[in-house]
Amino acid sequence: MPATRLKKEALHASVSDPVLDTMNFLNEITHRYPEAVSFAPGRPYDGFFDVEQIFTHIRRYLDHLAERGASPGEIRDALFQYGPTSGQIRELIADSLRKDESIDVRPESIVVTVGCQEAMFLSLRALLAQPEDVLLVSSPCYVGITGAARLLGFEPTAVAEGADGFRPADLAAAIAAERARGRRPRAFYVVPDHSNPSGTTMDLAARRELLDLAAREDILVLEDSPYRMVSPGRQLPTLKSLDREQRVVHLGSYSKTLFPGARVGFVVADQLVVDRDGKQGLLAAELTKIKSMITVNTSPLAQAAVAGMLLAVDGRTSELNTETSAYYGDAMRAVLRELDAWFPQEDRAGLGVRWNRPSGGFFLSVDVPFPADNAALVRSAEEHGVIWTPMSYFYPRGGGENSLRLSVSYLTEADIVEGVARLARFIKTESQVRN
Ligand code: PMP
Repeated sequence: MPATRLKKEALHASVSDPVLDTMNFLNEITHRYPEAVSFAPGRPYDGFFDVEQIFTHIRRYLDHLAERGASPGEIRDALFQYGPTSGQIRELIADSLRKDESIDVRPESIVVTVGCQEAMFLSLRALLAQPEDVLLVSSPCYVGITGAARLLGFEPTAVAEGADGFRPADLAAAIAAERARGRRPRAFYVVPDHSNPSGTTMDLAARRELLDLAAREDILVLEDSPYRMVSPGRQLPTLKSLDREQRVVHLGSYSKTLFPGARVGFVVADQLVVDRDGKQGLLAAELTKIKSMITVNTSPLAQAAVAGMLLAVDGRTSELNTETSAYYGDAMRAVLRELDAWFPQEDRAGLGVRWNRPSGGFFLSVDVPFPADNAALVRSAEEHGVIWTPMSYFYPRGGGENSLRLSVSYLTEADIVEGVARLARFIKTESQVRN
């Protein structure tokens, strides 16, 4: 029998999204050049994971349930059975958010999700209802949000970041332009702290201005901030902790603070939803309905491991991450120090090489005087043994052609020293070829 053949163009456009091809390309390059130092993966450093600890965490959670009076049958069900769609560790998450982030919400406002990715998807599905509805994103932006919007048939509207990050005035202009076209801006997605991909952080004034703007323009803000707790030093307040009018939907991830294999995240959606009869409920309850048709519930086993980790530090993930943030902070400083050494200040302008200096997070961006495209990436891997991510992957509407993203999280100090040396040789060679 002939094998069934499907026409790709007959499948949903999201499977032909060039972003997915580019990500595959990056993986392929990484496999093809295993000896290369890779500044590409945005993964946590492996050195902090300890296999045996997983069992201890799960045990701690089960002991916690027993201490709170759960019967053996209830404890068994908490691991083996389908769980509540909105999640079974919402109290612990609410407690942790209060202690870590000064976010004070009731557990009912939280939905536990399969990673932050599902939190984004649920939020977008609920908010983007009509074809004229618009999601605005700070650009360059995380591919997960662009991809989720596209799966739902919406193309995000990019609001370009400046060197110091996103500017509220640019968002106001983008909202006005969309309204002038008869469209309905619904939400703005932003990573306010140590953003992926560019590494920028919004200052406090911009945070307050964004909240005022959201109220004035009647839009929601989708706040995604997975890198705060794994960054050294004091962090600025989350948008959600500054939010007095339930303008902010806070998208949470434990992938960086605990571990990505858990695939546990959450969404704080304490907005009131009113139906035609005036009956009120929380947006979280509506998101739960959507979740029941996507993942049914987040794995209880994974939630148990996460809960055990939260219990170990009485909810303070910041405490759990003192060592990790110091490690990532050192890695970022090492990359900056090596770049400074290879490109002395007085040569930079002449060469056309520039980079930003993030105070935390996993990423920084480097501007170069040549197209940092896939062809350049192949030359970089093959001839110089160093891999990075073209920044253009992160622009939903084009841009970033002359920039590359470096991720610092996954490398040792020795890799960083060698990797930046290779990168510097690559950049200098390419610049000479082009000049
Ligand atoms: N948001 C941002 C900005 C990220 O960089 C990432 C992953 N690197 C995520 C969300 C994904 O989170 P999760 O693993 O919880 O789905």
